[in-house]
Amino acid sequence: MIQKRRVPIKGGYFSIPEDPLEPPRLLGSRCQRCGEHYFPRRAICARADCLSDDLVDVALGPEGTLYSFTFVHMPLFGSSNLEHMDGYGVGQIDLPEGPRVQLPLAGHKEDYFIGQRVIAELDKMREDGDTEVVIVRFRPTGDKK
Ligand SMILES: [Zn+2]
Repeated sequence: MIQKRRVPIKGGYFSIPEDPLEPPRLLGSRCQRCGEHYFPRRAICARADCLSDDLVDVALGPEGTLYSFTFVHMPLFGSSNLEHMDGYGVGQIDLPEGPRVQLPLAGHKEDYFIGQRVIAELDKMREDGDTEVVIVRFRPTGDKK
């Protein structure tokens, strides 16, 4: 099977590695003055005692720890992927660099528990000719789909 070209649903939030087996990274910022990390990217540090504008782009993850999660029983908005029609999970994931992000989860409610190690992956929303429009989501580590 030929790998279709993958494009992000919106640029600037996650990477798309050329190797399909390599996990995507979240595109964030690191404050050069106080060391705080942010996702999504910021131009100014949000710490009231810092407020530096010396931030650099950094890649975050791809692994994290599940802080909380839920599953909703309605189709994922904007998706034509049949896998999304019965509903989808939403997790709050603590990244090793600090930020807590909220992103979709793969699979089913039974696959998850609080404190679980999860890893980012790309997920197809729809196809457009020879292109796949993708989002980033998390799945349990070691659980290849
Ligand atoms: Zn700062």
